[in-house]
Amino acid sequence: MIKAVVFDLDGTLYRGSQAIRGAPDALKKLRENGARVLFLTNAATRSRKDVAEKLCSMGIKAGKEEVYCSAYFLARYIREHYPDKTVFVVGERGMAEELAEVGIRHVERDAGIVAVGLDRQFTYEKLARAHEELGKGAILLASNKDSTFPTERGFMPGAGSIVASVETASGREAHVVGKPNCFGLEIIKQDHRLENKEILVVGDRIETDILFAKECGAKSVLVMSGVSKKKDIRNIVPDYVIESVAEFSLP
Ligand SMILES: [Mg+2]
Repeated sequence: MIKAVVFDLDGTLYRGSQAIRGAPDALKKLRENGARVLFLTNAATRSRKDVAEKLCSMGIKAGKEEVYCSAYFLARYIREHYPDKTVFVVGERGMAEELAEVGIRHVERDAGIVAVGLDRQFTYEKLARAHEELGKGAILLASNKDSTFPTERGFMPGAGSIVASVETASGREAHVVGKPNCFGLEIIKQDHRLENKEILVVGDRIETDILFAKECGAKSVLVMSGVSKKKDIRNIVPDYVIESVAEFSLP
């Protein structure tokens, strides 16, 4: 019995600033049928509030408390595991905002943690600073390792490309809190009192969304409106495949 549907965003509900055709109506119908609608994105550049506003502007009703982004997971992870540590941020405003909101202190020197996400103002100097902090013993965390993300310009380098440069310099491996790590699903289950079997994950990328559902024990739906195509289904097999979210109905 599915009680909550967790939707990926890019490639699933929208592409760039354009809603996928039929997405607003499909989600409205789902809400009318009593299902809880949640949103989960690996993007770490925007805060939950920004994402909720973007969805609302496309006609998709969304509240901040229904939105989960990897910047928020970073904040929750640090608060849970390292509440006393300070953070050097390689990331954008959304990430800094989520960390500040749970009271995590952002510093430029002597950080306990280096947190890395997509940063479109990334420079050699930031890489060097992160490297120095890691050399002094800081813990390395990452929002996600997505190699690319879809934009109006096509696929552009994602957080994974930046994380890789920090990892390469330091010889360390980042701990990832976004998909496919199950930390996000644990947070969603806690916040909404849900069990694995009550959750359905809908996404467009096999190696993040569908792998995430599989690893974490939830059912999954692959949509064809984004990155993955039917020919890409090999080892990681979704429970359902649909053309786009417009076709979505509860199983
Ligand atoms: Mg996606």
